[in-house]
Amino acid sequence: PIYHQAKFINSAPKLKDAPPDQGMEIAFAGRSNAGKSSAINTLVQQNALARVSKTPGRTQLLNFFEIDAKRKLVDLPGYGYAKVPEAIKKDWRQMMESYLHDRQALCGIVQVMDIRHPLTDFDWQMVEWCEHRKLPLHILLTKSDKLKFGAAKTTLLQVQRDLNQADIVVTLQLFSALNKVGIDDVHQVLDEWFGFRKMVVA
Ligand code: GDP
Repeated sequence: PIYHQAKFINSAPKLKDAPPDQGMEIAFAGRSNAGKSSAINTLVQQNALARVSKTPGRTQLLNFFEIDAKRKLVDLPGYGYAKVPEAIKKDWRQMMESYLHDRQALCGIVQVMDIRHPLTDFDWQMVEWCEHRKLPLHILLTKSDKLKFGAAKTTLLQVQRDLNQADIVVTLQLFSALNKVGIDDVHQVLDEWFGFRKMVVA
């Protein structure tokens, strides 16, 4: 796929600093330290496009990456880091809400969860925001290498059951940036949301 072409555009501290609201955007969300930056880097086959942070939750930026003239990926600020002061949490919530509610280019959310800690309160908040806009949601249960395959599968099925109550289309899969598991499946979801059609040979 073309995802390796991803190029950094800018980091926006506020929504007004974002690139024009045009074309299509797919945003990546996740709790700090869940493995979101590693997942993005793996999907674009670049080691350092999204920074893998050792001090999670400090920067509250929307990072924009261009795939082609009409398509972008967006790295949303990580959430749920306990040491972040209340005022920053409030800013984070406001920025996420305005981005998720108002951004017309947004066509889907990829939500990254550490397979050992799925469906936190913050994760459910994201599900609610997606329901509000009827945005499709694709969940990566990442760091799947940390569990034996059977345990990973059991978690996958449990999370799937828990999400049956959601009012939108939610899909999910196992992922590992370490073992490169699940990359093709994510690319397929991105392709579908971005409107790339597979060539049909008649
Ligand atoms: P972010 O804060 O969500 O962007 O998380 P990072 O991508 O910075 O990852 C947080 C930590 O988890 C880092 O130490 C990564 O090396 C580690 N990590 C990320 N993905 C994986 C994975 O698939 N498997 C394992 N074992 N560790 C991972």
